[in-house]
Amino acid sequence: MKKITILFLSLSLLFGCNQPQKTAEKPSSPRIKNIVLMIGDGMGIAQVYAGMTVNHGSLNLEQCPNIGLSKTWSASSYITDSGAGGTAISTGKKTYNGAIGVDADTVPQKTILEYAEENGKATGLVATSTITHATPASFIAHQKSREMYEEIAADFLKTDIDVFIGGGLNHFKDRKDSLDLTKTLQADGYSLVYSMKDLEDVKKGKVAGLVYKEAAPPYEDGRGDMLPDATTKAIEILSQDSNGFFLMVEGSQIDWGGHKNDAEYVVTEMLDFDRAIGRVLDFAKADGQTLVIITADHETGGLSLTGGDIEKGEIEAVFTTDYHTSVMVPVYAFGPGSDDFRGIYENTELFQKMMKAFGFR
Ligand code: MG
Ligand code: ZN
Repeated sequence: MKKITILFLSLSLLFGCNQPQKTAEKPSSPRIKNIVLMIGDGMGIAQVYAGMTVNHGSLNLEQCPNIGLSKTWSASSYITDSGAGGTAISTGKKTYNGAIGVDADTVPQKTILEYAEENGKATGLVATSTITHATPASFIAHQKSREMYEEIAADFLKTDIDVFIGGGLNHFKDRKDSLDLTKTLQADGYSLVYSMKDLEDVKKGKVAGLVYKEAAPPYEDGRGDMLPDATTKAIEILSQDSNGFFLMVEGSQIDWGGHKNDAEYVVTEMLDFDRAIGRVLDFAKADGQTLVIITADHETGGLSLTGGDIEKGEIEAVFTTDYHTSVMVPVYAFGPGSDDFRGIYENTELFQKMMKAFGFR
């Protein structure tokens, strides 16, 4: 006992001179170890309130104490698409509609996911579209056009992403160049998973979850809890990394309901996305070192609610377009650093704010 005490004393004498410096480095708020960015594609305020009304007046995302608004215009248009919208959030650069991880001059830009990787964090992507679709692609690929799905799939192999779960198996396996990228993924140490059932058995390591050949079906057509379950699984695996993680989760099909002017489709996708939000917030609350950001790339459908009944869970929905609109979209933030997401700012600032939260340069 005595020896230990003496050793302890001499150690504190040795390191004593470093102490003031150490204290100065320590942030006053809890350290941000993980970021979960959740993008509801096409999710404007009306989509959120439609879901809230049908759910009889509440949503999980209401637990976020800090709220902001994001301006979504792109370098080429007053009205963005998901390529430019995703790239603005992932790289901090306004670019042209259709761009994937490249700036307005088609120059590749490093994404927040790539920065996270470079800094030793685990990384993941989850979506209900194909995983090669514009929104998830913007975080990992660098291509001139969002239509280059097979090139985007090949870009996954140039990274060290740990977990990706979504549709799009065909873009990896059934390709024009007849390459089978699933074999390359396997050789790179990924567990290849082709169904949500098989995903349950994976407990650790790198995971390529290509659980549908194309996009996942709409929730209305039997997708079940694919999005919440894939989100939970991604967190279960990524949180094993002691350096923390970055995860982007997309509720891809809120947008597709908007394009179809189908209120039922919008609401069922919104509620599904909110269930995934509930899972993430449960983790973040228990963890205490996770910043959660929930936002959209743009609004879709020009949705307005001209009537409704919270008790009955009914809405009267009117769409004004079958495309996207220019209106600002909400940003909901929870956890350490979430107060930095208050206010009105450009979508590109989401990137800057995430970089700052992680302490990256
Ligand atoms: Mg999308
Ligand atoms: Zn769209």
